Amino acid sequence: MKAVVFEEHGGAKALQYKDVAEPKVGPNDVLIKVRAASCNYNDIWARRGLPGMKVIMPHISGSDAAGEVVEVGSEVSDFNPQDEVMVYPGLSCRTCEFCANGRDTFCRQYKIWGFQTGPLDGAHAEFVRLPAFNVIPKPKGLGWEEAASLPLVLLTAWRMLVGRARIQAGDFVLVWGAAGGLGTIAVQICRTVGAQAIAVASSDEKLEFCRKLGAEHLINRKTQDIAEEVRKITNRRGVDIVFEHVGNATWPQSVASLKWGGTLVTCGATSGFEAVTDLRFLWNKQMNFLGSHMGNKTDLLEAMRWVESGQVKPVVSQVFPLRETGQAQTLMESGEVMGKFVLVPD
Ligand SMILES: [Zn+2]
Repeated sequence: MKAVVFEEHGGAKALQYKDVAEPKVGPNDVLIKVRAASCNYNDIWARRGLPGMKVIMPHISGSDAAGEVVEVGSEVSDFNPQDEVMVYPGLSCRTCEFCANGRDTFCRQYKIWGFQTGPLDGAHAEFVRLPAFNVIPKPKGLGWEEAASLPLVLLTAWRMLVGRARIQAGDFVLVWGAAGGLGTIAVQICRTVGAQAIAVASSDEKLEFCRKLGAEHLINRKTQDIAEEVRKITNRRGVDIVFEHVGNATWPQSVASLKWGGTLVTCGATSGFEAVTDLRFLWNKQMNFLGSHMGNKTDLLEAMRWVESGQVKPVVSQVFPLRETGQAQTLMESGEVMGKFVLVPD
């Protein structure tokens, strides 16, 4: 089968589109013919190499896929060939106390499929093998590309806002990177629960895109001061929730934008891990700082109900042939992406 592989860390040129062996199913696995996969920043970080994270070479990236079941292992009874499915990208041991009560993300062995070192190759290939636990039915009304765009960002944004920050109707939510894959889902979750998204993006074109998705307020981070705009929008009160995934570059403004007793929830730090907090604000304003990592399978199943009811829609901005994964990643690195890029095998 064809796959996009890298054998050493580097730029997009490190990616090779080449023939590799088709995966073989174990007794509890499902073999899926990939009809669409999506691009995430994780793919780029694994390719470049991250300090402290060992990537087993050769590596096939990709944490989101939708496709058809072509073969099931001897112990699999939930799926049959030709079933249309999508992937839950959290791999865990399935037997520890956390896995046993549905808190997969606390498992010591929790890994993101296609990103972190593990025995399974990722989605950027013609076929993928996954435990049946990591497969869920694809809703009939969703196309392959739409379905493939969802799992990682839907799961992450849903757990951050609903599971961790306990978003409520009426909340003001500051959404960094609101036009990106995660941000577009966060804005729609806000709209669905009756919260007001304050979308932050780097251009008016991106902000217009966010407005169409339901963002009530827009801030251009290139031309406007975030905390000052937040004060105007919230009548000096500050936001109830900050949706953080940028880290170093945005942290001071995130903290300054929070209301007294507000909640900052973060799932990553694309601009750097070091962030300085004046602790006086933390205690005086009684802020809540929450971490969030991926989500449990139950989170994805619950979030998918919002997709099935049409409240949260997949946002696919461009589709590339699988062989052009490098071009897609280069465009992502330029920061000019709105929504999700999807890859389709030839
Ligand atoms: Zn476990």
